Amino acid sequence: MFDKILIANRGEIALRVIRACREMGIKSVAVHSTADSDAMHVRMADESVCIGPPSGAQSYLSIPAIISACEITGAQAIHPGYGFLSENANFVQIVEDHGLKFIGPSAKHISQMGDKITAKETAHALGIPCVPGSPGGVPDVATAKKVAADMGYPVIIKATAGGGGRGMKVAETAADLEVAFSTARSEAKAAFGNDEVYMEKYLQKPRHIEIQVFGDGQGNGVHLGERDCSLQRRHQKVFEEAPGPCITPEERAKIGKTCADAIGKMGYAGAGTVEFLYEDGEFYFIEMNTRLQVEHPVTEAIFGVDLVREQIRVAEGLPLSFTQDDLEINGHSIEVRINAERLPNFAPCPGKITAFHAPGGLGVRMDSALYDGYSIPPYYDSLIGKLIVHGRDRQEAIARLHRALGELIVDGVDTTVPLFHALLQEPDIHSGDYNIHWLERWLETNLQA
Ligand code: ADP
Repeated sequence: MFDKILIANRGEIALRVIRACREMGIKSVAVHSTADSDAMHVRMADESVCIGPPSGAQSYLSIPAIISACEITGAQAIHPGYGFLSENANFVQIVEDHGLKFIGPSAKHISQMGDKITAKETAHALGIPCVPGSPGGVPDVATAKKVAADMGYPVIIKATAGGGGRGMKVAETAADLEVAFSTARSEAKAAFGNDEVYMEKYLQKPRHIEIQVFGDGQGNGVHLGERDCSLQRRHQKVFEEAPGPCITPEERAKIGKTCADAIGKMGYAGAGTVEFLYEDGEFYFIEMNTRLQVEHPVTEAIFGVDLVREQIRVAEGLPLSFTQDDLEINGHSIEVRINAERLPNFAPCPGKITAFHAPGGLGVRMDSALYDGYSIPPYYDSLIGKLIVHGRDRQEAIARLHRALGELIVDGVDTTVPLFHALLQEPDIHSGDYNIHWLERWLETNLQA
């Protein structure tokens, strides 16, 4: 059993992990940059270590600084949160070489899923249905033209090393292909230092449906249903819900079992998310994330389980505290991501919080590291909070979201809260009738810059 865990992250996710540690009687160590000395995660942890200057590269991504912080404090394990080093196989290897435990899957599974071509090949071999696409990397425009002609337009060109919606370009017709191909490649090179790209059929009206899985590392896998994350801006999620409004219990059981069996066969340890596009009753694998997702609280809400606690248990070599048969969906949950951004352009809006009040009451959870007087630093991503609601059904969850958004006060910076107030006026949101393109189209007509 661990006595002390270091959290290699910041913001709301660092608090989330500290909370799980405290309930389990485990001491927590926060690490922070000089820009985060006054951050809530530093205040809330049992101990803290400054690991470098503001830039992420020199602090939250500095492997030597994080390993040293473990050695200084005697932490036995590292929870990476999401982002930063959470999907860095090299980091996992170094952690293990130092006799420490990484709370997450093995370096081997992270690299297998981190390279999207290998991920698709692995998924396919495990019986998971995939989006039709190029068999591997596409080296040049001539090959791209051939693949597209065989597959049929439109196509999407994606970075093999991709993440965060970057290095992705759509070609509607053959005339667009050359530009789309070279833009995707140069974006991939700039963002990931790797310009390899692959191609997929571009689906016209899919929903983004992802399956939460858990492996115990002993060959057993379970699934915790799906999340619908179709409301996206620039391929990034802004509003997530569970269960998916369009998924039937039979579909859930079938795709869930396929994923759970697959990760059991892999010998996967810990939390993972298998992402699909879903169109006309078919699931198409796009990628697997080998970490806790930002949107994990909606799954926690409907199943009543603490996913971080389970991650820690699995890392300790303990079995999961539930079996597939124990898992039953209770009600409906929605999360909205609140960013410090100025509409209509979503420009980052760091600055001093002059007033903060988190909503409360039945079925309301606010995961945020904000407090009155806190200054949001300009160096990191703009997520400042997640508002999660839970109701007996979707309608109740929506009414609760409306009520909770009305109670929330964040003064001093602009936020994306007005976007959610506006979305809750939309009949399509109430009926659940939207796909991955809905929000972009809505923004074009309703939030013109
Ligand atoms: P990333 O790792 O950068 O998030 P993903 O492969 O998970 O990239 O895709 C992110 C989003 O991009 C998806 O949720 C979807 O909205 C869109 N997308 C990806 N592949 C396709 C596709 N083949 N057809 C249509 N949309 C796609």
